[in-house]
Amino acid sequence: MKIAILPGDGIGPEIVDQAIKVLNALDEKFEMESAPVGGAGYEAHGHPLPEGTLKLAKEADAVLFGAVGDWKYDTLDRPLRPEQAILGLRKNLQLFANLRPAILYPELAGASTLKPEVVSGLDILIIRELTGDIYFGQPRGVRAAPDGPFQGAREGFDTMRYSEPEIRRIAHVAFQTARKRGKRLTSVDKANVLETFQFWKDIVTDVHKEYQDVALEHMYVDNAAMQLVRAPKKFDVIVTGNMFGDILSDAAAMLTGSIGMLPSASLDANNKGLYEPSHGSAPDIAGKGVANPLATILSAAMMLRYSLNRAEQADRIENAVKKVLASGLRTPDIHEEGTQRVGTTE
Ligand code: ATP
Ligand code: MG
Repeated sequence: MKIAILPGDGIGPEIVDQAIKVLNALDEKFEMESAPVGGAGYEAHGHPLPEGTLKLAKEADAVLFGAVGDWKYDTLDRPLRPEQAILGLRKNLQLFANLRPAILYPELAGASTLKPEVVSGLDILIIRELTGDIYFGQPRGVRAAPDGPFQGAREGFDTMRYSEPEIRRIAHVAFQTARKRGKRLTSVDKANVLETFQFWKDIVTDVHKEYQDVALEHMYVDNAAMQLVRAPKKFDVIVTGNMFGDILSDAAAMLTGSIGMLPSASLDANNKGLYEPSHGSAPDIAGKGVANPLATILSAAMMLRYSLNRAEQADRIENAVKKVLASGLRTPDIHEEGTQRVGTTE
């Protein structure tokens, strides 16, 4: 088992270092190899995703990614900017399923903007499709409106589309993941208005025939947004398209109020994946030793669970995180009165 380690920029290297220490504390030792990515890739090889880095990511069983980006690269041409590295990795590794858990440990319930009883113990997983939807559909652009009340006026337009194989493969990931958790899946769509999402609903319903042990419910995205802030604990696994997933997963993340705590995974068809914290490179606090490493450590746990087939080891790491929180240790981002403030390395 080989893990590609891509620390990146900003707080990336400091938080990834802590995850490596945690991995090294497990009984089983994994081969790890590091390579520069993002701004660090640009500094070392003139490109955010250097050839050697991509090769390493391709040959590894999983990728542990820190974060990329820094203000000082804002003036570079777009293809040379650090953020291009993650897009290039997603594309080259054919990662299509983005898994974003939103977990709120009872000890941190005070960090949420919602009432503690509504969110305490929240543990949901949003699965966002990454390759289709209105993000990539052609044609798109600005043109003279061909019809309608404003015919001839300028209009912006995009094309929403989802192919059957794209929906089927994300539905399989969703049902299989739900099977390993609470056996409940909510498929979020807008089938009442959009053809694309009526099709989505029909295909998900068809795939469900292979997973009769999982309870499937369909929900319109507007209702899902409402339920997420009203009674989020009613959800277990949510699967949805690229755009709805983008919006709902950010909303769900904020329910927990602690961006430094949330891991994420992006998987391909063979469960190979890239694992990274949901937050960015946080250049404002880089090098100060105050960044919260838990999102990255929990990303390493997801890596063990989904790509390396080591669920028990993943449980151990997640339990260790719970113990550390219960013991009262907190990095500044989640620090409250009555808890003990510690730095990244501690
Ligand atoms: P990106 O575009 O890469 O997602 P962003 O602009 O959304 O980046 P982040 O880099 O995620 O922003 O940072 C947002 C805020 O959260 C910053 O103030 C940052 O310091 C803080 N932050 C992010 N990650 C952490 C962390 N692990 N620990 C503590 N604070 C963090
Ligand atoms: Mg962001």
